[in-house]
Amino acid sequence: MKIKDILEKKRPTVSFEIFPPNARMSLGQVMAAAARMAVQEPDFMSVTYGAAGGTKANTVKIASALQDYLGIPSIAHLTCVATDKEQVKAIAVEMREAGIENVLALRGDVPAGMDYPSPERYAHASELITEIRSLGDFCIGAACYPEGHPESPDLETDICYLKEKVDCGCDFLTTQMFYDNDLFREYLYRLRGKGINVPVFAGIMPLTSASQLKRIDSLSGARLPERLSRMVGRFADQPEAMMQAGIVYAAEQIIDLLASGVDGIHVYTMNRPEVAARLMESLKGVVTPRDGGKR
Ligand code: FAD
Repeated sequence: MKIKDILEKKRPTVSFEIFPPNARMSLGQVMAAAARMAVQEPDFMSVTYGAAGGTKANTVKIASALQDYLGIPSIAHLTCVATDKEQVKAIAVEMREAGIENVLALRGDVPAGMDYPSPERYAHASELITEIRSLGDFCIGAACYPEGHPESPDLETDICYLKEKVDCGCDFLTTQMFYDNDLFREYLYRLRGKGINVPVFAGIMPLTSASQLKRIDSLSGARLPERLSRMVGRFADQPEAMMQAGIVYAAEQIIDLLASGVDGIHVYTMNRPEVAARLMESLKGVVTPRDGGKR
């Protein structure tokens, strides 16, 4: 099912993200984690795609298994920075044949030492979106950055390129993780002011261990509000307390976003079913299940 059709029926949505196997997790372990997350009845689940690493082979396989075996609508990510134009075509055909209707079209981070831009590959997500549009009847999403993309000189420039990206045929946007809802609301106001009117899913990553901080910083540079920094300072060396504090912070953040009328919440669940379960338990009665099921 296309995400834009899910939004027609139910808004706000709640979705989860998983990543394909890597050195620490086998395909079987990833699928077992996905099955445990599926119990929470997210409206859909997304599967990431390695920009340059060895994870790309399984993205389509996992996205189609989510739909076929777990009954969860899925979205497959696709990056173009290290995937040449012919490969993009082949992957789009593979997706179509596997019944995948949703694609998150991304550039990916430019690997160190890579020849970029190169005539063999699309330089920006906007070009990838144009190509995917021409390859099938996909519902296409793209990434956006409430604190600005790290390579952008400023937020204004980033939003101008985002407008181009949306005009190329993007149906919705998902934000990079953020921890300050006011910042998201200001960003959304600016997007709407620029004529970017597609649905925007708020990306939430529960901060459940101090070791995640380095990763969050390298992935997004997201600013931590004083209140969250204090929690980390206080509970960093107590794993259970840090987990609980991170879940409660994320749940409060989500409740506030829902109260502001957000289109959807996308949870960076990072293949951790226990995080998905604890978060959904904290949101019981606040978020509604997929297809009128019981949560
Ligand atoms: P683009 O939209 O191409 O933007 C990249 C930079 O170029 C920005 O600074 C933008 O302002 C600028 N720009 C855009 N268009 C132009 C133009 N025409 N001329 C000049 N400058 C321009 N990475 C992965 O490897 N795999 C994943 O599965 C993955 N999933 C993600 C999911 C979400 C929701 C998010 C927010 C990020 C994800 N990423 C993923 C990370 C993403 O690939 C990186 O942030 C990457 O650096 C940028 O990708 P993009 O699609 O936003 O690029």
